Amino acid sequence: MKAGVFYHPDFYEKGYFILKDRVKPGFEGLKDLIRLNKLQHLIPEIDNETEALLASTHSPGHIASVKSEGEHTTALLSAAGVVQAAVKLARGELDFAFCFVGAAGHHASYDSYWGFCFYNDAVMAVKKLRQLGIQKIMIVDVDPHFGDGTRNLLGHDRDIIHINFFGNSGVRKFDPVLQNYDVPVPGYGDRSFLQEMDLVLSQQDWDFDFLIVIFGHDSHEKDYGNCHLTFAAFPAMAEKIKYLAGNKPVLFILSGGDNPEVAQVVIPSVIEIFVG
Ligand SMILES: [Zn+2]
Repeated sequence: MKAGVFYHPDFYEKGYFILKDRVKPGFEGLKDLIRLNKLQHLIPEIDNETEALLASTHSPGHIASVKSEGEHTTALLSAAGVVQAAVKLARGELDFAFCFVGAAGHHASYDSYWGFCFYNDAVMAVKKLRQLGIQKIMIVDVDPHFGDGTRNLLGHDRDIIHINFFGNSGVRKFDPVLQNYDVPVPGYGDRSFLQEMDLVLSQQDWDFDFLIVIFGHDSHEKDYGNCHLTFAAFPAMAEKIKYLAGNKPVLFILSGGDNPEVAQVVIPSVIEIFVG
């Protein structure tokens, strides 16, 4: 298992004010895995490719607005790490990657954003993977808020499987043609959430070559999205994701969550399932 974690200190120093305090404790929880060479620490950087992918994902007005809010550089650095992780996974240089971010992505659409999300990192990674010849991609979003930006940008694409688990009430919708699956689990709780994961993920043989997971820990009972998940739910969830992925590359992207005490436990507990 070749595993990497993408982390830049700017995510902690300059990240979005609600999200940033959990980043460093989450990363420091990985120091033993890094010391034991089970996990490689990679530092993202913004390059011309990141800029080009950004310009093909969001409108000029959107980018100008993010710049005027002072969030551009950290948001783009976050997306750069996700794209660079996707490239290493696609080339077989990694089997598993976990990307820290200073701002989240799944509520960012072509021309609008909300909810601490500015640039859609997952969509930028999908565009890069397509350039590398990877067509069929599965995105499992377990952040307890619906990934509306990702759906707006990729929902029409029949080669993208997009499964959203979310903690508020909503309509359960399965569209096997466009491969869009909306799974409301009102209030979550460990048992309901894990049962729904089993039910939905086991319903068919999913046809994909690359797996992206939008990982928010705001679902933890001590975090702001409070969906009553305990610490035990996170490695259990990771086991199901690992089984789903088989031997395909897995890219985890950090999403919602602000509680440092939660981050420093759940992030290592999820990564250990893959590298332990
Ligand atoms: Zn969230």
